[in-house]
Amino acid sequence: MSEAVAPPAPIGVLGGTFNPVHYGHLRSALELVEHLQLDHLRLMPCAVPPHRDAPDCGAQHRAAMVELAVAAEPRLVCDRRELQRAGTSYTIDSLIELRREVGPQRSVCAVVGCDAVQGIAHWHRWQELLDWAHIAVIARPGWQLPRGGAVAQWLDRHLADSPAALRQDVSGSILIEALRPLAISSTEIRQLLRAGRSARYLLPESVLDYIATHKLY
Ligand code: ATP
Repeated sequence: MSEAVAPPAPIGVLGGTFNPVHYGHLRSALELVEHLQLDHLRLMPCAVPPHRDAPDCGAQHRAAMVELAVAAEPRLVCDRRELQRAGTSYTIDSLIELRREVGPQRSVCAVVGCDAVQGIAHWHRWQELLDWAHIAVIARPGWQLPRGGAVAQWLDRHLADSPAALRQDVSGSILIEALRPLAISSTEIRQLLRAGRSARYLLPESVLDYIATHKLY
């Protein structure tokens, strides 16, 4: 009698500018790996952001900092695909590429902060995102999910009540994940550094060293 083979564990993907990566990103990523029982989570730096000015700090530097930050944790990896693609970095294009790479049997879970969900209706082809992946929304301090309109309806329609949804299908569900709140933002880190103040303990020491060596910010 042949035994049923369990599907491979889901993969997570967290897109962002990571300008620079910090412990808010890293701790959330690791908690998601453990809570959702992901095989691994990819931090995916955006090369050409669609919804904000291109960061002064180039994508190669931002990706190098992510690589340093995850070097000691095998369950977190840097995914450089958006640096290798010309033009605006659309999440939908990355999810389609990732789906082609991992095949039709593996669950993929795209992670977005709930600040990003507020503006998700402006994302390129946003209603197709769930055709390619699940979405995990990180509940962040001080942010609320949209209460009305197309995004609220979309959330209601696809909301799953447990991470088991990630194993029932390879895409199509939305999970809301309340993680350890860490009030750290890249904006604040850049402001501290520009003001000549210390950002130590908000981000890995290896990333701070990289910033100093390359005179970023
Ligand atoms: P900036 O201050 O430049 O806007 P940021 O700190 O919000 O940057 P991003 O690179 O824009 O960082 O974030 C990538 C993703 O990580 C987004 O989905 C964002 O919501 C999420 N995120 C950022 N900071 C945190 C945090 N402290 N805790 C949990 N999620 C976070």
